[in-house]
Amino acid sequence: MRFAESAVNSLLRPAPWLSVYALALLGADADAQIVNGPICEWSPAAVTGGRGPGLIVGADMLLPDGHRPDYGVHIRFNGGIGAVADFEAVRDAYPEAAVLDCRGRAVASPGFVNAHEHAAFSYAFPDPNLNPGYAHRDEWRLGLAGKVQLPSPQPHYYDPGDPESTAILVAVELRHLLGGATAIAGTGGVPGVIRNINRHVREGDPALYDAEADVSTFPFSVRVVEDLADECAGGPAHRFPPPDGELAFMAYVPHVGEGRRSSCAARAEVARYLQRVQRRDRRHSLVHGVAADREDYAAMRELDVTLVWSPRSNLALYGQTVDIAGAVEQGVRVALSTDWSPSGSFNMREEVSCARQVAELADAALPGEALWRMATVNGAYALGLEDRFGAIEPGLRADLMLVRYAGGDAYEAVLTATDEDILATWIDGRPVLLSGLLDGALSERNCVALEGVAPTVCGVFDAFGLSEERFGDYLEGIVPLNNPGGQASCGLAAGR
Ligand SMILES: [Zn+2]
Repeated sequence: MRFAESAVNSLLRPAPWLSVYALALLGADADAQIVNGPICEWSPAAVTGGRGPGLIVGADMLLPDGHRPDYGVHIRFNGGIGAVADFEAVRDAYPEAAVLDCRGRAVASPGFVNAHEHAAFSYAFPDPNLNPGYAHRDEWRLGLAGKVQLPSPQPHYYDPGDPESTAILVAVELRHLLGGATAIAGTGGVPGVIRNINRHVREGDPALYDAEADVSTFPFSVRVVEDLADECAGGPAHRFPPPDGELAFMAYVPHVGEGRRSSCAARAEVARYLQRVQRRDRRHSLVHGVAADREDYAAMRELDVTLVWSPRSNLALYGQTVDIAGAVEQGVRVALSTDWSPSGSFNMREEVSCARQVAELADAALPGEALWRMATVNGAYALGLEDRFGAIEPGLRADLMLVRYAGGDAYEAVLTATDEDILATWIDGRPVLLSGLLDGALSERNCVALEGVAPTVCGVFDAFGLSEERFGDYLEGIVPLNNPGGQASCGLAAGR
């Protein structure tokens, strides 16, 4: 049976509880669920007497070592990635699995790993006073140097008894999911929507933060310009407090050098951080690093420090961002991140677009494949979690996106996909976004169509007791799910 996409999209399905592991069994007994659409051929799983057959997806595939046409990935019933090989070989190896064969019409990629995002604040539009005239982060945070202070938005934290905060956080995470991310690192969020990464500190954190990285924002102090005032006036080098050595088992991903290269404090932060990194006692990343220069990049490459780059947020606040041509020439590993909505990108695709503009202006060679690596495997590496997700690789979790593909550069198809191009997004093997075309085959009958959003959203709303109407009521005045129009400028149009 053929499903018309628009008709299926508009259906709101009932939501009986089914195990997330049952996804591949759903089609087993119903011909009506066969989707022989123009893009994918669906074959339900064989009845296996209790064994979990999993799901094979056939498509062009973006693997760590390159683009592979006509490949297959076996998403195991436990949410992990099993075999990754030529499609026919995977199908022969797992004859009982369900098969979604989209070869030649779709490309499969790991979901983007957004290595730095303050989810608790990332519902808010840029402040009307936002301007690129700041030399250091402390100037807009604290109103130093006679600059206008930008008030911090009220953070929202997950509380099952607070439907407004829950709805706002669900909206933040759905916005990132629609933009291709399957993981975000930073404080705040809700359990069960996107994959959240942060250090476990409070009871309840293990349920929210699926994996740990130490993203404590400021490594030195919250008033670092003041702390460094003597040193920057020619005095003795400031001594920062020692790092917390007990956390060496997780990656350290702090803000460092967030200011112009002309800022003494921002430069000193980079120097101090790179001193600290020389201990080589843990995975280190460096968020922003606008003040870093080519010598610093060489040290970062040597010390295996990943630069977490948020060009839009940098340009919106400082009128300057990383010397990307220098970073590329020095061979630094770079990961992309959105930072937060008050100054950063709407989602990872918008960040990619801004990064591309910056690179073009700087004459830096950043082809689609390089940008894709920054948005996937490098993000996971920045967090020390590359053995968990960020690539289509046996043994990793199945955090995948499948988007329409009409030939040409498959990396570009992933980087520039629109809502309408999204066929499916899985986290831990669980479908969270589905095109109406595939809803009947792959969903657990728990997908909801939202106004203005092309793919249906699966398994999210029931968990929070939110109806679509109630959800919509809470979203007035916050950054919407589907319109990047209110984001900060990438800064280049004005010639900065
Ligand atoms: Zn930040």
